[in-house]
Amino acid sequence: MPIIRVALNVPVDTVFDYLSDDATQHDIGLRACVPFGRKRVTGVIIAISTKTQVPIEKLKPAHGIFREIEPLPIVLMDLFHFCSQYYHHPLGMVIMNSLPAKLRNNKSAKLKESSNNHQFCLSDMGKQVDLSSIPARNRIARRLLTELQQTTVLTSLQAKQISPRTIKYLQEWMRLGWVIASPVQTVAATKTVAPPVLTPEQEIAVNAITTDSQQFITWLLHGVTGSGKTEVYLRVIQSVLAQHRQALILIPEISLTPQLEAVFRARFPTIPLANLHSGLNDTERLSGWLQAQQGKAKIILGTRLAVFTPLPNLGLIIVDEEQDSSFKQQDGLRYSARDLAIFRAKQMNIPVVLGSATPSLESYYNALTGRYRHVRLLSRAVQNAALPLIQCIDTRINKTQEGLSEPLIQALDQCLKEQHQSLVFINRRGYAPVLLCKSCGWTAICQRCSSRLVVHLRDKKLCCHHCGHQEHFPRACLQCGNQDIAPFGQGTQRIEETLTMHFPTARILRIDRDSIRRKNAWQDILQAIHTQQVDILIGTQLLAKGHDFPNLSLVGILHADTSLYSTDFRASERLFAQLMQVAGRAGRANVAGHVLIQTEFPDHPLYQALQRHDYDALAQTLLAERKMAGFPPYVYQALLRAEAHDIKTVLDFLSQAENLANPPESVEIFDPVPAQMLRLKGLERAHLLVQSASRKQLQEFLAQWNIQINTLPTHKIRWILDVDPLEF
Ligand code: ADP
Ligand code: ZN
Ligand code: ZN
Repeated sequence: MPIIRVALNVPVDTVFDYLSDDATQHDIGLRACVPFGRKRVTGVIIAISTKTQVPIEKLKPAHGIFREIEPLPIVLMDLFHFCSQYYHHPLGMVIMNSLPAKLRNNKSAKLKESSNNHQFCLSDMGKQVDLSSIPARNRIARRLLTELQQTTVLTSLQAKQISPRTIKYLQEWMRLGWVIASPVQTVAATKTVAPPVLTPEQEIAVNAITTDSQQFITWLLHGVTGSGKTEVYLRVIQSVLAQHRQALILIPEISLTPQLEAVFRARFPTIPLANLHSGLNDTERLSGWLQAQQGKAKIILGTRLAVFTPLPNLGLIIVDEEQDSSFKQQDGLRYSARDLAIFRAKQMNIPVVLGSATPSLESYYNALTGRYRHVRLLSRAVQNAALPLIQCIDTRINKTQEGLSEPLIQALDQCLKEQHQSLVFINRRGYAPVLLCKSCGWTAICQRCSSRLVVHLRDKKLCCHHCGHQEHFPRACLQCGNQDIAPFGQGTQRIEETLTMHFPTARILRIDRDSIRRKNAWQDILQAIHTQQVDILIGTQLLAKGHDFPNLSLVGILHADTSLYSTDFRASERLFAQLMQVAGRAGRANVAGHVLIQTEFPDHPLYQALQRHDYDALAQTLLAERKMAGFPPYVYQALLRAEAHDIKTVLDFLSQAENLANPPESVEIFDPVPAQMLRLKGLERAHLLVQSASRKQLQEFLAQWNIQINTLPTHKIRWILDVDPLEF
């Protein structure tokens, strides 16, 4: 009896064998329901075999194989294997976590009636297939291949006329990547939005990327804010669609999907588009996933998890805002969707475009060293839209009151008079308003995390921004009993109150995590901004990304300096990217933009580069520092992260792991250190850093070390390897 090897969603690095009387080689990539302990669980078949390491009498029979959907393609299985190896995460967890929830349970997925209306053509790989490679007795397969070679496109109806059995071959060949399926277009083309004439820079970029569209190249599309990167994406996608292939577009934030989706739908009204982000319910997600998997959806727009979608005719991947840290998953399988996107493009031999105004130093370095191709857009796309004027307000001279300096208030006033919009941006990285006792200096701290509780004035609550814990304001200091405790520092709400005092008639809108929680909140906010119902916006990083506000002319930036004190070696890179992005919100159309940064260090190289819009200057400075200090991109890093109820247990565990390690000379291993935020959600955390100039040797070491760590007793400990960590 055949044996199926199944990857299950369990935290052990092994796969499980079961008996299955009806399994064939074609079942690799299908889901199977199997007994596991006393439970029934569903996993994915990764191999079919006749041999097993388990004594045959101990093998249990599988409950069944689900055949309602096509198996996961072999290339996708390869991606899972790579992902499991590279991130040192169990294969079953990698595969199962990538699937929509409805494919993870023990039920067969209920599918909508799928249309028969498909057309098929040979892929580039399929065109290479020699007729003689198909045995002569497979008459139908030979006939089908000949037809495809001669007619180029075959509808499902035509294929069935050859023989009903052709459908089986077509499915098999799709799986091998020989055949590409697409729905027969039935929707009449509606009126499309006329595309703008490309700027010379855009034209160069589009030509370069589309000319080399049949091979793996990583493009760094490096364009200043407002340079029209979206238009470049649209043109490149268009050329991919013309080849009947699919385009996958990865974006960092859910809040950006409606905006981009609208742009795509307007440009390609008849092209089926699937949206795959974490804001969908299970049914929507399954439906989008199936559209993509069946090749029906041609444009797939999604957040990081979408990188695992099966895409039979993938022709292009775009990663927008590639520097954004939300492409890296921060728990469980700590993958980088950007890096996996590049792996996928390489697998499929297709281009991948990384877009950014401020690329990550890793990508920029790869572009400088020639591993990526660098295309630049140095000017804004809209005529007369100059880059904004960026200036610093020296707060050592212009003292702030309630967080605002006089020059900024004057500029806001001027902007109101001219009936333009302004944005007050509060850099909240490492910063938030806390409750402070003025007599003993006590501040309110979350009991579960070592983070300070953040004051939410409106509902008179203290909230932990890490674990969500909430509590009421205490009446008096918990340490000394003093009743004079007050919020310290300026959060968004505090600034809102101050601004209302200064500008009582202005329409002020505050945007933060709380105000966008409601469904459709974003759409309402964007609508209000676009219809000029807002004079002053107050916001945090949420507002920085990708949005286009044509009437915005002034941006004031508060608390930028806090990032300069950070111990994180990426803090400067992030601050620069963020401030560039926020600054990029100003003056995008016909309104000139002006950006004012309140700082105590106007001469800092970061602000100097920012004022000159000189990404390269800062990037070179930072790269030189990283090289000196031996940080990425000059080395590759991994963290062994661990957490437990008390830090001693954690540090003991990490020391044991360190003692087990036997790294080669090229791999450096550091002593365990407590995490920057020691307590999180009631657990104490620490980590141990390993790094090497050789990615290969680091990987070899990690693989071996991972096995060794697994032998340690860990009942009180949770630990994980974080490869290419972004947070410490
Ligand atoms: P980026 O993503 O690079 O910051 P966008 O793609 O948002 O820039 O484009 C900025 C603005 O320029 C948008 O309003 C867009 O419609 C406009 N735009 C883009 N390309 C052109 C073009 N070739 N001609 C005129 N306007 C353009
Ligand atoms: Zn006190
Ligand atoms: Zn907490």
